[in-house]
Amino acid sequence: MRKQYWNEAEMGLWERAYLPEILRGLAITGGVFVRNMFKWMTGRKGALTTYYPEETRWDYAPANRGKHVLTRRADGSPQCVACNMCATVCPAKVIEIEAGFDPADEAHPKYPVRFEIDYSRCVFCGLCVEACPEDAIRMAKEVPDLPAHDRWSMWLGKEELLEWQPQGDVAKPYPPPPPRVPNGDRP
Ligand code: SF4
Ligand code: SF4
Repeated sequence: MRKQYWNEAEMGLWERAYLPEILRGLAITGGVFVRNMFKWMTGRKGALTTYYPEETRWDYAPANRGKHVLTRRADGSPQCVACNMCATVCPAKVIEIEAGFDPADEAHPKYPVRFEIDYSRCVFCGLCVEACPEDAIRMAKEVPDLPAHDRWSMWLGKEELLEWQPQGDVAKPYPPPPPRVPNGDRP
């Protein structure tokens, strides 16, 4: 005997007849299609689709995990100490770091000679940001210029990650997130 679920939908006679509901669904879908197609053919935008990358949304949520930023110390050097924790925790294994050693810098002798992220495989989970003990890697909400025609162009290196600063002073923390409302949602 089939199991009964507590929230099982109860169908009326009209729904049990099956065909009328199928036709009603087709009418709704067809209506939306024809309306959007008409708008498209008359030069207006139909469905709420962003034609990325030609169009870029400006209304990313403040907590959106976009592109990575490598932060810098006050002297401009990367804050990263090449500990490899971000690369280790990365579930997609897309971070490659080559560590260098500078005995003259007693406070931070290790530094990244090479720091690369393969954006063709990054899943934008943010675990690298969470794992970093130095606050050396962050994710900005903006996502500019990531698409490419070949995978190799989607590897971004240390220079770009250091130079691409969507906000002026990355030594400062990103603006605090908006306060949470009691039910846990952002306002
Ligand atoms: S966001 Fe996730 S997948 Fe992308 S580099 Fe960081 S840890 Fe790896
Ligand atoms: S970004 Fe952070 S976690 Fe990754 S190697 Fe540099 S210091 Fe370590």
